[in-house]
Amino acid sequence: MNASFPDAVQATDLLPLRLLIAAPRGFCAGVDRAIEIVERAILKFGAPVYVRHEIVHNRYVVDQLKEKGAIFVEELDEVPDGAPVIFSAHGVPKSIPAIADERGLDWLDATCPLVSKVHRQAERQIDAGRHIIFIGHKGHPEVIGTLGQVPEGTITLVETVQDVLDLPFTTEDALGFLTQTTLSVDDTAEIVRALRNRYPHINGPKAEDICYATSNRQAAVKAIAPQVELLFVIGAPNSSNSMRLVEVSTRGGTPARLVQRASEIDPAWLDGVNTLGLTAGASAPETLVREVIDFLSTFRAVTEETVVTTEEKMIFKLPRQLAD
Ligand code: SF4
Repeated sequence: MNASFPDAVQATDLLPLRLLIAAPRGFCAGVDRAIEIVERAILKFGAPVYVRHEIVHNRYVVDQLKEKGAIFVEELDEVPDGAPVIFSAHGVPKSIPAIADERGLDWLDATCPLVSKVHRQAERQIDAGRHIIFIGHKGHPEVIGTLGQVPEGTITLVETVQDVLDLPFTTEDALGFLTQTTLSVDDTAEIVRALRNRYPHINGPKAEDICYATSNRQAAVKAIAPQVELLFVIGAPNSSNSMRLVEVSTRGGTPARLVQRASEIDPAWLDGVNTLGLTAGASAPETLVREVIDFLSTFRAVTEETVVTTEEKMIFKLPRQLAD
């Protein structure tokens, strides 16, 4: 008997489960870079290194980095004088590096370059004399960071088409729009359409700012969801791109569950399920995908199939201070 099967259960007794695994899934180039920045900073400065906010929205990743010597805090006043601090992949308002400079802290910026690109676009919109309409989710750290790139009163957040209809601006006003990087591709297209309908002269990016990793993971879910009876998305509830993967599947008619670790899975969820889909948000490591597959294999005879919708080759450079 195979030691990995529970007592008295033979592999041949298990019901078959066809598992369609989305590709791409899991870590994106921005998350890889952010984690490497923390690891290299610990080597360079020695532990502890402070990180403002979860470096990426994944408890497993955060716990691993804590073990290596990272201390996670929410605000700079929790960082002792003289200690190095890293800003998370989501980006920070301009006031944060300014405060770090005032205090003479050594800081490193792990903001994803694709988020930084939106920050620069925001500055350009303001330089061009436009008021910015920013499409994003209120309270998400990336949104707080982007709103904090420009003077107060020069940017307005919209989350829905209704918010667009409620905007106080006229067609005479100079307006530009930008978006959070981890939104639903479909919802955002609708909001942009509403904006362009209401303000035909609004200035915006040629392609919206949703990042390659977010769009690719959503496209991969769209490819497998119609073929499965249930989809598991490995990710955290505060991970925007993971939550969007759940939505993409459920809106297409396939139930989906967000799963942080294999231990959360109730085998009863798979009663009557013959084909299961599996993906992971951009901040979820492949180890957790494997953990889930191994757990599924303890009570079902799993056949794995990877469904590749696109290949990703994106790599981002490290900050100068840490490059070899
Ligand atoms: Fe960058 Fe997109 Fe990854 Fe966020 S999800 S870190 S924006 S590549």
